[in-house]
Amino acid sequence: MSQSWLPPDGATRTSGVITVSAGMFKGGEFRCPAADALKARGYHTADPVPRRRERLEHFALGPFMAACDARSRPSGSPLRTRTAPPHDGLRTWSDHGVKAYEAAFPADPERPLSEVPEPWTYRYRPSGPDPRNAQEYRFTVWGRCLASADGAYRELRLPVHRLNRDVPPDGFTAAVALVLAEGTPGPPPEHVRIVEFALLDGRTRELFAGSREQALARYREHGPDALARVLDGREYRPGSACCGCPYLSVCPALRAAPGLLGIEAPDRPRRTWSVTNGRNYRACPARDHMRRLHLPAADSVEREVTAERGRALHAYLADRHAHGSPRPCTVEIPEDWVPDGFDLPDHERTLGALLLRRHAAVCPLRCVGDGTDVRTEPRVVRHDTAADVVVIAAPDLLYRDAGSWVWRETKTSATDRRSHRSLLEIYPQLALAVVLISRGDLGGAPSRARVELEVLRPGGADLEIIDPFASANRTAAEGVLRAMVADWHGDDHYAAVPGRSCERCEVARWCSASPATEAAA
Ligand code: SF4
Ligand code: SF4
Repeated sequence: MSQSWLPPDGATRTSGVITVSAGMFKGGEFRCPAADALKARGYHTADPVPRRRERLEHFALGPFMAACDARSRPSGSPLRTRTAPPHDGLRTWSDHGVKAYEAAFPADPERPLSEVPEPWTYRYRPSGPDPRNAQEYRFTVWGRCLASADGAYRELRLPVHRLNRDVPPDGFTAAVALVLAEGTPGPPPEHVRIVEFALLDGRTRELFAGSREQALARYREHGPDALARVLDGREYRPGSACCGCPYLSVCPALRAAPGLLGIEAPDRPRRTWSVTNGRNYRACPARDHMRRLHLPAADSVEREVTAERGRALHAYLADRHAHGSPRPCTVEIPEDWVPDGFDLPDHERTLGALLLRRHAAVCPLRCVGDGTDVRTEPRVVRHDTAADVVVIAAPDLLYRDAGSWVWRETKTSATDRRSHRSLLEIYPQLALAVVLISRGDLGGAPSRARVELEVLRPGGADLEIIDPFASANRTAAEGVLRAMVADWHGDDHYAAVPGRSCERCEVARWCSASPATEAAA
C-alpha cells in the first residue's frame, strides 16, 4: 500500500525522520488524511509567502496548557507553551478549566506525582531497509505528563473540552500507550495510565491503565494498522484543516475561487469562513470567535426544541436521499421517523411527520436519473485567494439536472406565515450558492443550474427557484456576502457587543459582557 503513496507535485521530503503525533491517530472528519501523512513523512513546500499571524490566541486549549506549565515549572525556567493574548471569553474558559483540573486531580500524598520537564517521545530506528525510507520513527504525545519520583509510574492526562460519547479510536490509545511505555526521557516505567479530562465539568475517563508489558501488547494489537492508515493517508479532505495547512499551495484538492467573497485586503491572516460564522459575527463578534474556538455551548440553546426538530428532519431526509436507488420520497412517513441521537417531544414529532409528508410534493429526487446525480450534505470548500479565506459551505443537497448542478436548501416552519424580506438576506447560504454557481465554481453545465429553497410548512411546501445568472440576483447575492464578511475580515479583536442576541447566546457563560454574567457578578 505504501508503494503507491505519492506526494503532490511541489512537496519535497526534507527529513528521513517520520514523526507521528498522537492526534493524527484520532482521525475524524475535521482532519485531512493526506496532510497528516505529508506532515508525518517530513514533506515541505517552497512556499515563499510568510503568513500574518492572528493577534489573539486561536488554540482553545493553549492558555489552559500555559497556565498548567506555569504552575509546574521550576522558577526561572522558560515557559513551554507560548500563546498569543487570549480573548476575554477564552480567558474565562481557561480559568474555569484550570479550576476543574485542580478539583479533578487533587494532590495525593500517598502517591505523589509531578509533571515531567519534557514530554515523552518514542523513537525507533529500523535495522534494515524501510518501506517508507525512514531512518527513524518518532511518536509524540500532547497533554499533561506526570510521573512518580522514581519514574516507575507514568500518567498522561489528556485535556478535552468535554467527554465525547465515543471513546477515541483503539489506534490512538495504543500509540499513546506505546509512548508512555517506551518513550524517553526517563527510565522505562512499570505502570502507565492514560486518562481524558474534560475542562467543562472536570469529568475524567480512563482510556488505559496497566503494566508496561500490557501497554506494549496494546500497541502490538492495534498500533501497526493504525500507523499504516496515518502514513498512507491519501484522501485530501478540504475543510477547516486547510486554513493552517502547509501544503495549501500545492494541494490538488482545494479549489481556488479568487474574488468569491468580493473583498481584497492583503496582509491579513488566512482564515476560514462559513455562512454560520457570518451569522454569528453579525449577531456579535465575540460569539463568532468563541464558537470558532469550540467553547462548549449551552445545551438549552443549542438543542432548543425547534432547532432540534429542524436538525432531526434534515438528518431524516439526508439519510432517505443518500441511500439506495434515488426514489422520490412519498407521503408514507414511519411513526418512529426521528433518527437516533435526537430527542423530540410528542407534538414536535407529529409536526415533523406532517412537514415530511409535505416534502414529498417537492422532493428533488423527482428530477434525478441515478444515484451518481445526488450529493447529500456535501462539503463545498473553495479558497478565495484574493481574500485568503477558505470558504466552507454545506448545502442540504446538490443534484444534477441534465448535467447542471442544482443547489437545494430545505427549511422548516411551524407556521404558514411568509416574510416579505429578500430570501437572499434571510438565508445568506442562498447568496453564497448564487455567487458560486454564477461564477462557475461548482462546474457542470450552466443551462439548468439553479438555486432552490424548499420551505416545509404545515399547510404545504413552498419551492422558490432562484436564477443565479439573472444579474439582479447575482448583484444582490454579492452584496449580501460582502456585507457579511467585510468587517469580520478586518477584525482582530472580536469585541463583545451585548444586545438582543445575548438572550439566545449559547456561549454567554464564557462572556463577561453577557447581561447574565454581569447580573451574577
Ligand atoms: S489544503 Fe486542505 S485538502 Fe489540501 S492537503 Fe491541506 S488540509 Fe488537505
Ligand atoms: S452573551 Fe451577548 S455579548 Fe456575550 S458573546 Fe453572547 S451575544 Fe455577545
